[in-house]
Amino acid sequence: MDAVDFGDPPAAPADGPQSVRCTACDAALRSPGRDTVSFLLIDHLTIPLVGCPDHIEQFGTVCGLTTEESTTILKHRPAGGIQCPGCRRASHRHRHPVVAVGAGAIGVLACPAHQDDVVGRYRAGLRTRHHLTESIASHRP
Ligand SMILES: [Zn+2]
Ligand SMILES: [Zn+2]
Repeated sequence: MDAVDFGDPPAAPADGPQSVRCTACDAALRSPGRDTVSFLLIDHLTIPLVGCPDHIEQFGTVCGLTTEESTTILKHRPAGGIQCPGCRRASHRHRHPVVAVGAGAIGVLACPAHQDDVVGRYRAGLRTRHHLTESIASHRP
């Protein structure tokens, strides 16, 4: 066993958030498994997500602002499975990008293309929500 391994910080995800305040998300990200993975159905995509139910719900709702279709969150693998082979493989990986959602953080277990897609939707959704609340506020009598 060669114990000397410089420049490799112990078990810290390089692109993870500094701190996850939501302990439930934190616990889920530390040990992604059957119980902590949910599936976001958006348009024709099935994106596996890791996090606590609250923050996954929040992520799904914000992503849903970018589409006319309804989005669904499943607690179990959908009957038809995951259509994209890249995403299917990614769901078995242990390292994954983490997106900050409010006080929590969720892992997106998708292939790079669909990761970009869903993270882009989330960012766009946040902007949409911002505009919505602004226009509601400015239209008050
Ligand atoms: Zn959480
Ligand atoms: Zn994919």
